[in-house]
Amino acid sequence: MSDDCIFCSIVDGEIPARTVYETDDVLAFLDANPLARGHTLVIPKAHAERVGDLDADLARAVFDAVSELTPRVQDAVDADAANVGINDGEAAGQEVPHVHAHVVPRFEGDGGAPIHAVAGKRPDLSDEDLDAIAARISE
Ligand code: AMP
Ligand code: ZN
Repeated sequence: MSDDCIFCSIVDGEIPARTVYETDDVLAFLDANPLARGHTLVIPKAHAERVGDLDADLARAVFDAVSELTPRVQDAVDADAANVGINDGEAAGQEVPHVHAHVVPRFEGDGGAPIHAVAGKRPDLSDEDLDAIAARISE
């Protein structure tokens, strides 16, 4: 629990939410300002700000919930597809500093965009640049 964290307050029942799924470690509820019908947030109950702050068990529990819930959410609103994503850090658009996966149902012709649309201007990278980046990540 983190003081002043809105999602910790939801976990503690201090702020109401439309809960759709709950385990010992994970909670999922409808987004209060939905991007689409059925927009759902999946969070670890324990406070963690960034994806990299989750321990392996909790990361697994969150993704287990995402994979179980995504088809259920789609079915509930008769969606054709869904985008699943996490804004990890302020520069990526994270506003609530408690890890949450968005499950956003998508409908044919809804005018939305794929996850590729979230980034800014595409970089112009040479093969050497790509090799160097891959090497640094895998170090
Ligand atoms: P992000 O920009 O990834 O941090 O997204 C935060 C999300 O939390 C937004 O989509 C908000 O609509 C949603 N949100 C904020 N407060 C609440 C709340 N009390 N209950 C449900 N969803 C919320
Ligand atoms: Zn929190």
